[in-house]
Amino acid sequence: MAWLLILVLIVLLWLVSLCIVLNASSTLSTSKFLSNSAGKRNVLLVIAHPDDESMFFSPTILYLSSRGHNLHILCFSTGNADGKGNVRKAELYQACAILKVALQQVKILDHPDLQDGFGNIWSRQLLAKIIEEEITTKGIDLLITFDNYGVSGHRNHCDVHHGIRMVLCNYSQRSIEAWELISTSIARKYTGPLDIWLSILCSLYYPAGEVYCLLNSHPHATFLAMAQHESQWVWFRKLFVVFSNYTYCPLKGRIWLVSQKLSRCKTQTVYQKQQPSRYVMRLCNSRGKAVKDQDWKLTGKCWLLKTKTGN
Ligand SMILES: [Zn+2]
Repeated sequence: MAWLLILVLIVLLWLVSLCIVLNASSTLSTSKFLSNSAGKRNVLLVIAHPDDESMFFSPTILYLSSRGHNLHILCFSTGNADGKGNVRKAELYQACAILKVALQQVKILDHPDLQDGFGNIWSRQLLAKIIEEEITTKGIDLLITFDNYGVSGHRNHCDVHHGIRMVLCNYSQRSIEAWELISTSIARKYTGPLDIWLSILCSLYYPAGEVYCLLNSHPHATFLAMAQHESQWVWFRKLFVVFSNYTYCPLKGRIWLVSQKLSRCKTQTVYQKQQPSRYVMRLCNSRGKAVKDQDWKLTGKCWLLKTKTGN
């Protein structure tokens, strides 16, 4: 009997959370992301495969469009791992039509060195070069992409993140801003709108302006956009879209280089480990309490965040 009561309570809480998400488009922290920006931004969303934009970034796309920012999408591959590259390319355009992104603002590459595959390592230099060309030709001033775990740990997602870090490093003297989609643990990943509570707490825990929780008041648009990817629209992806926290309340975090963080954030301290090429940066919340340590290493002239894969 007790388990039945717990189940009913969970379902009720799930529904209450969903109602909050559906009605929160102009409240809570959703309205603060980029709200300090002067004027409309020229945004480039950088993804690895067709369907990344719908499955992971549709709340971001809907949010940016609703605020009138100019959004471009750069997809680094056609998703040809199963030989369906051409089909998936067409599906991405259809999904973008649902998400109200103009088709001429969507670019899908099919570069021989950037092919879809978990085992394919993409050159960060090449990624950075292509992104820099896009920045120059389209006047981009804000980049959005995966974080260094890339939601699922897919190697192509992680490489795209590091390509953007390289761009930030090359552009350190110019004003270009980059934001990442923060990967959450498996325990939170399938809690759907329930995750709103933890996401909002998380965004409050970090220093002001570093992390935002975006609430997606149009989750049906995410479902519809993902449904355009017919070749990928199998039962487990349908369940993913319905139960994933990325559909309802994804977290966006700012990507900083170590030098930028030092000059901008007073609440952080950096200390050097025994090796001269490694630093540990301690992130503190607004009350000065340490919340996270990040391990950085010197790569060439840049300080880059060290990842589990040793990059
Ligand atoms: Zn992907």
